[in-house]
Amino acid sequence: MTDHTFDLVVLGAGSGGYAAALRASQLGMSVGLIEKDKVGGTCLHVGCIPTKALLHAGEVADAARHSEMFGVNATLEGIDLPKVNSYRDAVVTSKHKGLQGLLKARGVTTIEGEGKLTSPTTVQVGADTVTGKHVILATGSYPRTLPGLDIGGKVLTSEQALQLEHVPQSVTSTNEQRQTEWMTYHSLADFLDPNDRTKTVEGYPAPMRATIIAKK
Ligand SMILES: Cc1cc2nc3c(=O)[nH]c(=O)nc-3n(C[C@H](O)[C@H](O)[C@H](O)COP(=O)(O)OP(=O)(O)OC[C@H]3O[C@@H](n4cnc5c(N)ncnc54)[C@H](O)[C@@H]3O)c2cc1C
Repeated sequence: MTDHTFDLVVLGAGSGGYAAALRASQLGMSVGLIEKDKVGGTCLHVGCIPTKALLHAGEVADAARHSEMFGVNATLEGIDLPKVNSYRDAVVTSKHKGLQGLLKARGVTTIEGEGKLTSPTTVQVGADTVTGKHVILATGSYPRTLPGLDIGGKVLTSEQALQLEHVPQSVTSTNEQRQTEWMTYHSLADFLDPNDRTKTVEGYPAPMRATIIAKK
């Protein structure tokens, strides 16, 4: 059992938490950053970065598909999704290492484990007590589904979709941006009407956290 004391304790090391930790340390505060999983959170591991890596690979495929438009003679032979996923993982790993290095270099103390706020100035992490003059809660969000759609099988959130090793022939998405990403890989993509989840529509914006039904 150890007691740690900092000027600032940040619970959750996603984009919000690590940015606050880095800024506070830049301003001269001692900072303890508590994370139960990996520093970088949703954006780095299961959000912005992996999806943009996949989108980039899709754009490369599109450029090859339409290469004659640019006066380039090329043909697209296919998409090897396991290799695309390896490229995605390499991008995430390198940014994760970079962030770990930056936090260390800036003197932020990273504490691994699930934290529980036990008073306005105290977070309990296992047997350790972490105390701060100030505490920031930056615990983020989690994927939600719609009533009657249990996650599993063909009902995916963005997190399961990122792990797919095949391109579904068609998908229905609750999210317009996700729809665009699927279309880059030439899936037929509809998305659900937010006013009537039994219908699909085109061109209707929906929240970031997508529930996706892979049809085939
Ligand atoms: C598929 C997808 C694509 C996205 N693309 C973009 C994009 O292109 N551009 C953009 O701006 N945004 C994008 N986002 C949104 C972006 O990821 C979020 O806005 C951002 O991650 C929110 O950061 P956060 O710090 O609030 O939470 P999170 O990143 O969720 O971080 C919270 C952290 O807290 C940790 N945590 C939670 N509870 C505890 C606890 N009790 N103890 C210790 N640790 C805990 C979690 O493990 C997590 O690491 C995307 C999101 C998704 C899902």
